[in-house]
Amino acid sequence: MSIHFLGTGGGRFSMITQRRRTAGIRLVHGDTHVHIDPGPGTLVFSNWARLSPQKLDGLIVTHCHPDHYTDAEVLIEAMSHGTTRSRGVLAAPRSVLHGNDECDPSVSTYHRNLPAVVENLEPGSVFEVGALSFEAVEARHSEADGIGIRLKVPGLGEVGYTSDTGFFEGLEEIYRRVRLLIACTMWPRAQHLKYHLNTDETLELIELAKPGCVVLTHFGMRMLNASPEAEASYLEEATGVPTVAARDGTLVVLGEWIEVRGPRKRDEPRLIEA
Ligand SMILES: [Zn+2]
Ligand SMILES: [Zn+2]
Repeated sequence: MSIHFLGTGGGRFSMITQRRRTAGIRLVHGDTHVHIDPGPGTLVFSNWARLSPQKLDGLIVTHCHPDHYTDAEVLIEAMSHGTTRSRGVLAAPRSVLHGNDECDPSVSTYHRNLPAVVENLEPGSVFEVGALSFEAVEARHSEADGIGIRLKVPGLGEVGYTSDTGFFEGLEEIYRRVRLLIACTMWPRAQHLKYHLNTDETLELIELAKPGCVVLTHFGMRMLNASPEAEASYLEEATGVPTVAARDGTLVVLGEWIEVRGPRKRDEPRLIEA
């Protein structure tokens, strides 16, 4: 199971400036490809990374903010092989599929009709793509219908993806003892942003949920200025849980061990026993 961090930027200013890419995450499990949160640049950087979006079997959009949804329609066209075949799973909450009080639908009716299956997600919804089993879980974000993801990988344990959420009592139950927690940590220590996790809140989540290891992503400008690597080291030291800050192009391989490979050839891979 490979997890490609095609983009690690989050929030308005990381997105607008593209100081970090906003291309989301590609999961590859055998022949099964799933993309999570296709923000601006997803089409370009998927192709650039030789992960053709035509290989996609599933597309998950966690909420209706642009850093999570803008490339959804083109990815749906790719997943349907240029609209020639009804194939793939589109999984997203009501806001993305149909709109809510704050936002119009993120995908047009035309595009919503292209995938073979459309899953309307709310906390507790379960769906499958290939052998991967996904559950939509609660998030508390400024977008009321937004969700996080808990994923079961056969024989390899569970992966949590917080997406954008504030910290709340019960968040630790949702991600309890996942093998790998992907924590969208927008801001650094001592800088609180409502409806998002900062380093202090991610610390609390790690201490309570006790994941096997943690990858930080979805960095805002303040986090980038503070250094995500420094924040990851701080978290690892404070909690004892191996914690890595993703970079654009980081690859995490879930096997007997968890291997984190940086985007450059000279990056020393890190093997984590988790
Ligand atoms: Zn976001
Ligand atoms: Zn958001």
